[in-house]
Amino acid sequence: MDRGLDALVVSHPANVRYLTGFTGSSAVVVVAHSAVSLFTDSRYDVQAEAEVTGVARVEIVSGDLWGVGPGAGAGAVEKAVDAAPDLRRVGFEAHYVSARAAAALGGHSERVEFVPTSEVVEAFRAVKDAGEVAAIGAAARVASEALDAILPIIRPGLRELDVAAALERELRVRGSEWHPFPTIAASGPRSAMPHAGTTERTVEAGDWLLLDFGAQVEGYCADVTRTFVVGRRADERQREVYEAVREAQARAISQIRAGMTGREADEKARSVIDARGFGDAFRHSLGHGLGLEVHEAPRVSRTNEDSLPDGCVVTVEPGVYLPGWGGVRIEDDVHVTAEGAELLSDGGTELVELV
Ligand code: ZN
Ligand code: ZN
Repeated sequence: MDRGLDALVVSHPANVRYLTGFTGSSAVVVVAHSAVSLFTDSRYDVQAEAEVTGVARVEIVSGDLWGVGPGAGAGAVEKAVDAAPDLRRVGFEAHYVSARAAAALGGHSERVEFVPTSEVVEAFRAVKDAGEVAAIGAAARVASEALDAILPIIRPGLRELDVAAALERELRVRGSEWHPFPTIAASGPRSAMPHAGTTERTVEAGDWLLLDFGAQVEGYCADVTRTFVVGRRADERQREVYEAVREAQARAISQIRAGMTGREADEKARSVIDARGFGDAFRHSLGHGLGLEVHEAPRVSRTNEDSLPDGCVVTVEPGVYLPGWGGVRIEDDVHVTAEGAELLSDGGTELVELV
């Protein structure tokens, strides 16, 4: 193990799942040279036996894994590490472990030093293998089919919540294990808020309707946004904004490659929107990594000077948001290699007028 560590204590659920297959909400994996062990509690004994593969040992423990709480002694994690005589420097996930649990670690062992680490497993997760890409592609197909199923019912008079409910039902029926994030159905001026919630607002004729939604298959997420005009043909301003976003997204998808920095990839779309005069209205990053979590490495952002790794999966989601008027975002998911970006979602980005 690098970083001078003898072992790494992994507790972020997405990392636990990545390493072992276990999907429960509470478990710790100790990864050492000699063995990989998973610790969880009795709520999960049957599930751990069914799911966990490639791990030397599954141990069901009682009491707090971290040894926090009134009168707690050493937690199961510390006891397990202390029982392995070859372990001295042991990393833990400082971006996930609570300050209280981190403070309790190491309080009972003379020999073991617990060392904070940041996103060690996440760096491996950024590069997807063929099975992971296929799962994201399957999730994207579920998303696409669910959206197609509800388009015929969208009309003025429906509330945003009605649209989200119909979409979420179709996602589940078609195989989405869960909604990886709360569905955004934002209409009219509310579409100018990039992270709008979904409300009782009634969609009116001529409104934008922005739908940002996900699907999850074998734990892997798709994340798609489409923006429609409802109940009327698009007016000139709507066309102008939509085409700026659409061209920016198409340009980025055709030019993104592994090896480019996150900033360079972001710039492919941003330069198009700048040239159309909407630069100030594109106020978020172009995209983010996608996998077991809906936001993971790498970031496709002006502030990321690291190269996009060969084999990552990212979203490409430029947007233009004009307060009081509305906003447009178009989001697809791509697999990025040295040859370029391959679409995993359907790429159906032509302006759709639901009339
Ligand atoms: Zn999204
Ligand atoms: Zn996204």
